[in-house]
Amino acid sequence: MKIQNLINGKFVNPISNDWIDNYCPANGEVYGHIPNSSKEDVETAYKSAQKAFKHWSQTTFEERSRILIKISELLEANLDQFAEAESKDNGKPISLAKSIDIPRAASNFRFFGNAITQFASESHESVGQDAINYTLRQPIGVVGCISPWNLPLYLFTWKIAPAIAAGNCVVAKPSEVTPMTAYLLGQICTEAGLPHGVLNIVHGLGSTTGQAIIEHPEIKAISFTGGTETGAHIAKMAAPLFKKLSLELGGKNPNIIFSDCDYDDMLETTVRSSFANQGQICLCGSRIFVEASIYKKFKTDFVSRVKQLKVGNPAMAITDLGALVSKQHLEKVLRYIDLAKTEKGKILCGGQKVLVKGLKNGYYLEPTVIEVATDECRVNQEEIFGPVVTIMPFNTENEVLEMANKVKYGLSATLWTNNLKRTMHLSNRLEAGIVWVNTWMLRDLRTPFGGTKASGVGREGGFEALRFFTEAKNVCIKY
Ligand code: NAD
Repeated sequence: MKIQNLINGKFVNPISNDWIDNYCPANGEVYGHIPNSSKEDVETAYKSAQKAFKHWSQTTFEERSRILIKISELLEANLDQFAEAESKDNGKPISLAKSIDIPRAASNFRFFGNAITQFASESHESVGQDAINYTLRQPIGVVGCISPWNLPLYLFTWKIAPAIAAGNCVVAKPSEVTPMTAYLLGQICTEAGLPHGVLNIVHGLGSTTGQAIIEHPEIKAISFTGGTETGAHIAKMAAPLFKKLSLELGGKNPNIIFSDCDYDDMLETTVRSSFANQGQICLCGSRIFVEASIYKKFKTDFVSRVKQLKVGNPAMAITDLGALVSKQHLEKVLRYIDLAKTEKGKILCGGQKVLVKGLKNGYYLEPTVIEVATDECRVNQEEIFGPVVTIMPFNTENEVLEMANKVKYGLSATLWTNNLKRTMHLSNRLEAGIVWVNTWMLRDLRTPFGGTKASGVGREGGFEALRFFTEAKNVCIKY
């Protein structure tokens, strides 16, 4: 099947007629083609967005809200179709797409459909100067949204929904590795009554289509989620063009476990926070630090639980881990497992490719636990982004804090303890944009989401996102 670009409400082929193969990770076969859109395609998308902006930016909040909520309802009504498409395109278990990815994409539209009706600007009375200031929050114009492959529709919509809710028009590019649900979303948006040109979706490689979006002089803001290197490149390109930037990048998140935690809850959640989505979630706790007094017990229990996880056909309900997203990614993860061995890491379980019956060319890998000798080894410092975690013991709060912070990333951290003072001490000092205590991935869409250090710049979520997608203009009136 051929996926097409959505430009000005119509599905169109790329001008250059240049196409890329789309693979199904479950069986390693090409099952479709997507446009490798050129600068000219991006320009056409930009012009369509620019034309739509005049009207869309003046559409009432109520009308925008109505359309966004309608998109959300249509996503829910088509849950099965979207979940199947996401699983086929990405390799994730269909059960995960059905319970997390697609419901969350629907929530993104519902949430920002509601949020825009509550978004208010401020006024400041300049007492003693006979003046009043009020601040307008105006949409920026045409904005670019670029997303990765790990949570395809979930992260694509996390950008698009606030962008259009705030009155912008969008040129969006999903990952070329997982384009399918973004394509299907285009159909739903038209059905929901989103005016033509408000959302334009161009498919293609980062180096062609993505590059054309980030260097377009009239696309005034870029909301990007992806790898840290790509983020650095985008920042360099965008700086001389004075674009507004939101960068959500990589992570290498610590999961810190103290002996006073609720052990069973911790164990169950840690299995999830390590291997959900084949460990391909930027928030996965890939470095597990365990207090020395329970280290041995944890190691035995954790490895035994991980060995029970079922790697297999993503379409089957019993599957815990599906396929990794691509052959190249599987090879990258395997290289890290080999590297671990040269760094004195001990593979406690996993580490091998899995041959799934009837799907022998799929990209399957056993969930892997590596006991590392030091926190400074590369497998403990670099983002692997697969079903691989490291474990090691610690003795004191300060020691674990230092190890947790001693990486270039700073996205999220998880802390397991029932000690209040320790909770406060560590959550204040952990270098991360998000700290979860006695839970993981509990999301409230009103809260700021994003990372520090090499994990990014800016915050998404709630009014933060609406502030990003608007320009503040202060008006000062003297009376
Ligand atoms: P990636 O950086 O390779 O690609 C992300 C997107 O950027 C894709 O759409 C790609 O086509 C595009 N792109 C690549 N080069 C570009 C360029 N020169 N100009 C414009 N666009 C370009 O990342 P990926 O491999 O798709 O995703 C995995 C990474 O994403 C991991 O590092 C992960 O941690 C990160 N991630 C971060 C978050 C977060 O919220 N912080 C969430 C999910 C994933």
